[in-house]
Amino acid sequence: MYDKDNVFAKIIRGEIPCNKVCENDFALSFYDVNPMFSKHVLIIPKGEYENILDFAKNAAPEQQAGFWQCFVQTADALGIDANFNIMANAGADAAFIKQSVFHFHLHLVAGQRRPELHHLLDEICE
Ligand code: AMP
Repeated sequence: MYDKDNVFAKIIRGEIPCNKVCENDFALSFYDVNPMFSKHVLIIPKGEYENILDFAKNAAPEQQAGFWQCFVQTADALGIDANFNIMANAGADAAFIKQSVFHFHLHLVAGQRRPELHHLLDEICE
């Protein structure tokens, strides 16, 4: 069940700050507080969706359109038009990277790895 007190719900309600990149009626993007790459932004819908499957199944068409519009505007704002990755972790026991905030978010990452993460990312990417 969706937890209304998760950190991204608090950001949407303005209860805690974020370093915002883009916003529209349906979505918001902001810099990850613990970036893995020189460009690392999270894109979230404003509606209450726990993960990407919940969002894809249950969000209304205008919410989905608004979300992807925010994604495009975020990529534009960061100067990203190639050479990037998108990640959507789903579930506390996800096989690859586990979800830690249970409000759907896309990670948009590009640019240089943070040096202290070289070792970790080499292992993951092998
Ligand atoms: P995950 O749920 O594993 O896909 O990742 C959640 C991401 O949210 C992590 O990369 C965190 O660094 C990031 N994060 C957690 N709290 C905040 C916050 N207050 N502002 C920005 N990013 C956050």
